[in-house]
Amino acid sequence: MSENEARLKEEVFKRARYRCERCWSRENLKMYKIDPKGKDIPENYSVLCGSCYSKAPRNPFIFKEFFLRFSSPKEAMEFYDADSEEEALKKFCKERGIDFKKIQIEERKLMRSEAIKKGMERCAEIRGHAGFNIPYGYNYKDGKLSINEEEAKVVKDIYSWYLSGKSMQDIAEMLNSAKIPTKRGGIWAKKTISGILKNPMYCGYFRREGKITRFHGLKIVDTDTFKKVQEKLKEQGGKPFELPL
Ligand SMILES: [Zn+2]
Repeated sequence: MSENEARLKEEVFKRARYRCERCWSRENLKMYKIDPKGKDIPENYSVLCGSCYSKAPRNPFIFKEFFLRFSSPKEAMEFYDADSEEEALKKFCKERGIDFKKIQIEERKLMRSEAIKKGMERCAEIRGHAGFNIPYGYNYKDGKLSINEEEAKVVKDIYSWYLSGKSMQDIAEMLNSAKIPTKRGGIWAKKTISGILKNPMYCGYFRREGKITRFHGLKIVDTDTFKKVQEKLKEQGGKPFELPL
């Protein structure tokens, strides 16, 4: 944990008085990021016990205005005179003028993409331990993958140079003369460039157990660009990567 992260954690836990901010339990407390895309400031974090953490809704508004407000489903049900938590949430949405169906769909989508991302991270973790290489453009730390901004820029350049008519050899030479090292600090070769141009991970696909899985986030190149590059590889007699539909 970095110094900033430790300071943030301390501040948020202090504010929460070392209790779950929903049910006041002191057990298995965790930092919960309310809006995953939001800034790393105390206001965007909550402290939750393990049980509340696993049930927290992903929509930041519902989290703050509904989930945190009632310390248990029972309380929400009583307040809204509802027979189930879902009915209570429905009534809450109606009261606030929110489309309940839309929220439900959004919630499922987010949970699915989080599950996929977790699976992917887990896979990367296993790969990391097994001594495989983490692809250029990504960092791997504490069992988590993240985008390496500097390297991601190079990946984007490689794709656009290739589409603009540069050969893989040209690109390797350009990077070497710009003194940009490879992931292992070595020099670029045609093969390294080819590997980057065919890696589906850059456009949000992941090979897992022989299957191609879609994931969200950690995308460096857009799908359209990736497809165009594969077409070009095929035209030039190479073996492209076939994306599933
Ligand atoms: Zn709790």
